[in-house]
Amino acid sequence: MAYMPTKVLACKQLSKHMKRITLFSDSFSDFPDVGPGAYIKLLFNHDGTPLEIQQVSSDRPIMRTYTIQALDKKNLELTLDIALHQDNHQQLGIASSRASTVTPGQEICLAGPGSAKGLANEFDWVLFAGDMTAMPAIESHLSALPSHTIGHAVLSVTAQEDIREIAKLKGVELHWLVNNNESLACALAKLPWPQGTPAIWAASEFSEMRAMRVLFNDHWHIPRSQYYLSSYWKKGRTEDQHKVDKQKDLAVVA
Ligand SMILES: Cc1cc2nc3c(=O)[nH]c(=O)nc-3n(C[C@H](O)[C@H](O)[C@H](O)COP(=O)(O)OP(=O)(O)OC[C@H]3O[C@@H](n4cnc5c(N)ncnc54)[C@H](O)[C@@H]3O)c2cc1C
Repeated sequence: MAYMPTKVLACKQLSKHMKRITLFSDSFSDFPDVGPGAYIKLLFNHDGTPLEIQQVSSDRPIMRTYTIQALDKKNLELTLDIALHQDNHQQLGIASSRASTVTPGQEICLAGPGSAKGLANEFDWVLFAGDMTAMPAIESHLSALPSHTIGHAVLSVTAQEDIREIAKLKGVELHWLVNNNESLACALAKLPWPQGTPAIWAASEFSEMRAMRVLFNDHWHIPRSQYYLSSYWKKGRTEDQHKVDKQKDLAVVA
């Protein structure tokens, strides 16, 4: 896998628990075109410091996955929105803690991109659901949809101060959940359904994903082709541990 050297160009606190980081690299001119939900991997050394290009060795670096919030090939910029979290009594995430203190000029390698499954081709309305880790992908989808699209987007944020203006469509109603006052699955179950067939896109913490899967499959009987559902992280597990749990879970479901 080729690693791409980048430099932090700008950092902005988007909300209490969300930091926007814009990276610069000459290599972005050749970056593949990507659709909503596509992602890159940020690379770190095993001591948690960002991997710089001159430090690349045969050791596999630590990788953390982030959605491409924006790619500007002309200005050689790629933007990420990184949720800032802390895990009580456990280690703070490598990527999240670095993001909270990052300053322009710092270097970090990335790898990618990877693409995520998009919305179903045929639908009458859309339903989005996710926590702060899914917000960049949901915003990208909302920006890419035709202006007459209707539906709902349910967004679960860490604090009241994380509710912000996002790219939205007149016909897509936003519903905010704050500090886990309600699970995504419970909030979705109460929504009024527009007429016709939905296209659903949802991503969240692992246990929230499993609850939504029960809702989609066992209660709503949504055909698999009409929904994308993924867990983006798991409570108490690092990204590498989560990946293992996710594979096991998928094997059981299959
Ligand atoms: C396809 C994909 C796209 C993603 N896009 C984004 C994105 O655009 N923005 C974004 O912020 N995240 C995104 N994520 C989620 C992100 O990769 C994980 O949250 C990742 O674990 C963060 O790494 P870390 O080094 O901060 O924490 P880790 O070292 O992986 O974990 C350390 C501890 O922090 C906890 N933790 C991890 N994530 C969270 C969280 N969000 N909230 C609370 N506790 C957490 C873990 O449970 C663990 O106990 C995406 C994930 C996937 C699979």
